[in-house]
Amino acid sequence: MIVAIDGPAGSGKSTTARRVADAVGWLYLDTGAMYRTVALAFLDRGIAFTDEAADGLLSSLNLDLRMGLDGLQVMLDGQDVTDRIRTPEATEAASRVSTLPSVRHRLVEEQRRMARQQTADGLGVVMEGRDIGTVVFPDADVKVYMVANPEARAERRHRELTDQGKTVSLDAVAEDIAERDARDATRAVSPLRQAEDAVVLDTTGLDISDQVERVVELIRARLRERDAATPVKSDSAAPAAHSPSS
Ligand code: C5P
Repeated sequence: MIVAIDGPAGSGKSTTARRVADAVGWLYLDTGAMYRTVALAFLDRGIAFTDEAADGLLSSLNLDLRMGLDGLQVMLDGQDVTDRIRTPEATEAASRVSTLPSVRHRLVEEQRRMARQQTADGLGVVMEGRDIGTVVFPDADVKVYMVANPEARAERRHRELTDQGKTVSLDAVAEDIAERDARDATRAVSPLRQAEDAVVLDTTGLDISDQVERVVELIRARLRERDAATPVKSDSAAPAAHSPSS
């Protein structure tokens, strides 16, 4: 089963997706981390943010995402870059390189491969990004589009940065989010938009446990529908060991 969670920056996608994946025992795939890692490779190698330059870089890129006990670990060319992909420079660069068709093409392929590997083993994947329900998996079993008002999103992001020990004003965070959203929403390839069949979840004023519960409930409902449509269930690999419990 594939669960797609999309939405603008600061809507609460990452924390929700991670906890939902934890709750149901499935893989959490943070596609933003992939764009961030490629962006870091552009920065480290001093390459211009163009498709021509991206082609050479992508063919030699060694990117590895691992889910460990301490959360997501990202390796780039054998180096642990888990913290470095969250710097403001990498954030800004990710927003820019994600407009490049060659980068998107390569990462979408990789995202599909990772998800299919997981579902082939009878497990599910909770994927979070901007284009999962529209482009990466338009047939995802559950699609959620998370939104929140701009103030709530800026405050959430500001809190995250402060918790990481970074000093930045709320206004600067709000400006940065608005700029990244505009770039995501207006790019030619896979712009940020809500899939028609996505369930919209407005997280303004919701706490994290409510957000997680709403998504887990959508997954449960989908699993029930699927079970009801499957006459013989005895050896179904479906949610077996990882069925979300209440
Ligand atoms: O989600 P996160 O903020 O970590 O993503 C970093 C950047 O990567 C975003 O600003 C967005 O431009 C881009 N992105 C994307 N498509 C995705 C995930 C992220 O374009 N599926």
